[in-house]
Amino acid sequence: MITELSTRMILVEDLVDKVTGRLLDKIVNNQSLIYAKSPLTCNECNSQEIVGVEIMGADNGILLWECETCNEMFLKYEPEKTEIQLQKAKDYWTNPKDWGYLPKSKFS
Ligand SMILES: [Zn+2]
Repeated sequence: MITELSTRMILVEDLVDKVTGRLLDKIVNNQSLIYAKSPLTCNECNSQEIVGVEIMGADNGILLWECETCNEMFLKYEPEKTEIQLQKAKDYWTNPKDWGYLPKSKFS
């Protein structure tokens, strides 16, 4: 059965507590697994509920895969390439006024 791939758009800040150091190490446990196309099943729990994750501030398109069942995340690209995008997205996040998004923390 072919199901339509769903994606969700998130901020780097949604994935890590602190945007310091190597971000990928805090997000993806198994960095030797790289899926150019959406994995059919989760390597951890065998769930088929895999979604594409787009990161605001990174290049357009899916950067990571996430299992909706166990929340494990998987690489789509080489770790170094992914880290570069995460770092780029992190800078994006630190300049919210540039793109008109009000972070949740500013409401409280
Ligand atoms: Zn899973």
